[in-house]
Amino acid sequence: MKRRELLKSALGFSIGLVGVSALNPLYANTDMVVKADPMYDVPVTKVTDRCYYLLAKDPEPSPENHAFFNNPGFVVTSKGVVVVDTGSSVQIGEMLLRQIKTVTDKPVIMVINTHYHGDHFLGNHAFEAAYPGVDIYAHPATIAKIKAGAGDFWFGFMQRNSNNGISGTVVTLPNKEFKGGETIKLGDVTLNIHQFGKAHTEADLIVEVVEDKVAFLGDTAMRRVANMADGSFAGTIETMKKAKALGCNHYILGHGPHDNASICEDMQKFCEVIYNDATKYYDQGMSDFEMKPKIMENPFMKDVASKWPGYDSTLGVFVATAVAEVEKSMF
Ligand SMILES: [Zn+2]
Repeated sequence: MKRRELLKSALGFSIGLVGVSALNPLYANTDMVVKADPMYDVPVTKVTDRCYYLLAKDPEPSPENHAFFNNPGFVVTSKGVVVVDTGSSVQIGEMLLRQIKTVTDKPVIMVINTHYHGDHFLGNHAFEAAYPGVDIYAHPATIAKIKAGAGDFWFGFMQRNSNNGISGTVVTLPNKEFKGGETIKLGDVTLNIHQFGKAHTEADLIVEVVEDKVAFLGDTAMRRVANMADGSFAGTIETMKKAKALGCNHYILGHGPHDNASICEDMQKFCEVIYNDATKYYDQGMSDFEMKPKIMENPFMKDVASKWPGYDSTLGVFVATAVAEVEKSMF
């Protein structure tokens, strides 16, 4: 085993065993790892007086973008700052901290990870380092996944795709749980935490900022053809109905620019077309390979979804995933 992997597996083991409260001694070990270059500044996008995010332009991680391809967000309350998703690395988390400081001098008092994909939690390290013991919330199923291997998997994924651009990042576990259904009052801001069932992953959290009529959707909705392997088409359809019913003016996404409720409608429609057509053609005995061109004929796919990044290269995988879900629903 290579030295870096050995160190990393040892860190992963210790963190999994002792949890985040005992993390500080482990930071000493990271001195042995050469930390990758800092992340360049990505400007803040303001949605309302309290709600902000950093818009990632690229749909995938690369050496050039330092694995920055999702949108970390934050809410400025009168009590302090709530961060929603922390980016793919300690470097991106540090950059997010710099950007928050361009908006407010208030400290970060809470971090929320919407789900266990690495672009949403690997930046936790920077917040634990800047604010030791800060509350980092996630769904218990998300925490279990990170402990059970998603932490190591996503660290490796980001390292490979960024040419080791996240070196020095330590998988830093959430230390508090939201299950959905919580209402958090922080001075002038009320946060409603929602979990609407399996959608992009088995336990995505949606963060609603009540006073500003804003919802952070994580990756439950996006206008691109993304990874659905951990999610559910049927579940996303239901989650989109509930997200739209929140009646927010602005929906902030994990990937791509924020929008109004039309994003919920588009994501619902996209999943309905693929899932309903996959069900219909499956019943007719077609393979996913045969049904893909038929699904592409649907007016919504032709006129709308075909313009989303990744459509041509990943639609086939999407259809195959839908067929697997159709098959599973029969048992
Ligand atoms: Zn994701």
